[in-house]
Amino acid sequence: MLINRNIMESKYGFKKFTIAEFEAWIAQLKVARTIRTVQQHHTYLPNYSHFDGENHFKVQRGMKNHHVNSNGWQDIGQHFTSFPDGTIVTGRSLEKTPACIYGFNSNSICIEHLGDFDTGNDQMSDAHQDTAIRMTAAICRKFSIDVNTDKIVYHHWFNLATGKRNDGTGKNKSCPGTNFFGGNKVADAQANFIPKVQAVLAGTVPNKPKTELIKYVAVTASRLNIRKGPGTNFSKVSDRQPAVLGSNLRVYKIKDGWYKISSSTEHWVYGHYTQDVYRTTVTASKLNARSGPGTNFSRVGSFPKNRELWIEEIDGGWAKVIFENCWVSKQYLLFES
Ligand SMILES: [Zn+2]
Repeated sequence: MLINRNIMESKYGFKKFTIAEFEAWIAQLKVARTIRTVQQHHTYLPNYSHFDGENHFKVQRGMKNHHVNSNGWQDIGQHFTSFPDGTIVTGRSLEKTPACIYGFNSNSICIEHLGDFDTGNDQMSDAHQDTAIRMTAAICRKFSIDVNTDKIVYHHWFNLATGKRNDGTGKNKSCPGTNFFGGNKVADAQANFIPKVQAVLAGTVPNKPKTELIKYVAVTASRLNIRKGPGTNFSKVSDRQPAVLGSNLRVYKIKDGWYKISSSTEHWVYGHYTQDVYRTTVTASKLNARSGPGTNFSRVGSFPKNRELWIEEIDGGWAKVIFENCWVSKQYLLFES
């Protein structure tokens, strides 16, 4: 079985996912920290007016800079930020405790939904609502978290000074907003948000059939357009940037030399500008890289253990690393199969 780990768009150390990609990614992720709860927040600032449809990474970096430089934290506070277009950008490592609800951060995952969802301000888009529900469900499924208001919590339910839970009766923030899924009270969550998360986990929301991964390819053109179907007569997609040289894509369907590169959406690229690759991981503590397929070729560098290497060619016991112009001994590679 293929591991569905995503080679997603990433920038400034953040990864960006569609909700379907996020569900696949988190399902196979290894997390050592014990996770027992999920927090719901809104960012308040920045809000919908700061999002232009393309600046996810810039917005996320802005929050990180604020948290690090102004708040003096070691990293961005939250683990994930969800965006108005339904995409998700990663933040702090899941192995690290978040900085989101004083008194409640241990064993928790912090989600910040970009926007100001106090009544009269941002109206959460349909795609954003769908993502908020499904990402919470995916986290609950992954970490076996019960879907109730003890485990899925709003910032509003905690006293800011003491960290004690008071269900929003004291000195509290309105976060995730007085109009977040119909209100920020415990009763609102029980009436609206919680049942929607339960519905996803109960399978009452139809899940698209899982599509089998056929192979990986690497992009060999400087810029490869992504189209809505298998042919140049199909228009370019608007929800994804062209793939760039060296990026790796997953192929789910092949038609007339075109590759479908998303399991959930009609995203197609022309296969001519790609090269089939194997996905491998280095198992040796230090793997020598050589200028050719053999120990008689000169050593040109090395790769550390657990480094992911994309292989374009196998020659006997040797594997050629794409774009690196070097060869490594195949026996120290773990091939994804
Ligand atoms: Zn908050």
